[in-house]
Amino acid sequence: MSGHDDHSHLSEMDVRVRALQSLLVAKGYVDPAAMDELVTLYEHEVGPQNGARVVARAWCDPDYAARLFEDGTAAIAELGFGGRQGEHMVAVANTPEVHNMVVCTLCSCYPWAVLGLPPVWYKSAPYRAKAVADPRGVLADFGVALPQDTRVDVWDSTAEIRYLVVPMRPEGTKGWSEDALAAIVTRDSMIGTGLPQP
Ligand code: FE
Repeated sequence: MSGHDDHSHLSEMDVRVRALQSLLVAKGYVDPAAMDELVTLYEHEVGPQNGARVVARAWCDPDYAARLFEDGTAAIAELGFGGRQGEHMVAVANTPEVHNMVVCTLCSCYPWAVLGLPPVWYKSAPYRAKAVADPRGVLADFGVALPQDTRVDVWDSTAEIRYLVVPMRPEGTKGWSEDALAAIVTRDSMIGTGLPQP
């Protein structure tokens, strides 16, 4: 009964990743310490909590919001966020008239600096195709129903431009602190496939 399978609890994907990593290290293409540092960074420090701070600030400070929509990269850098895959940020505002949704039809371009690493579904072929062909269908898949007369704009990310959706501030949050507001800004609401969750 005992076979090779018994020796590992790794999924097939984990095994593939390990094999690839070993090869890259053995060939001298990557430094294991540098790779560990990068993984730790994206596990603990860079994630949707960064984007949530940007959104909450924009909700509380109209001057900041104006700067954010004028020059996303600079306004996001004001809060200390930037770097890899966050060099050319464009913030798009949801309004009662327009709902914004972000996709990368070619691959998986994503604003790492404010959202961390992309979820698996964002990189999937069905999402990439359907987001363009049937954005309202995608929203329905995510449980989001918008008023019929709200237009849905879909933004195709590229290596050049990464988008951050600034959702509408929910009703009933008047007087909330920036921290409390940031806590209700979900990752999906900043991709446009969700709404803030008060
Ligand atoms: Fe891409």
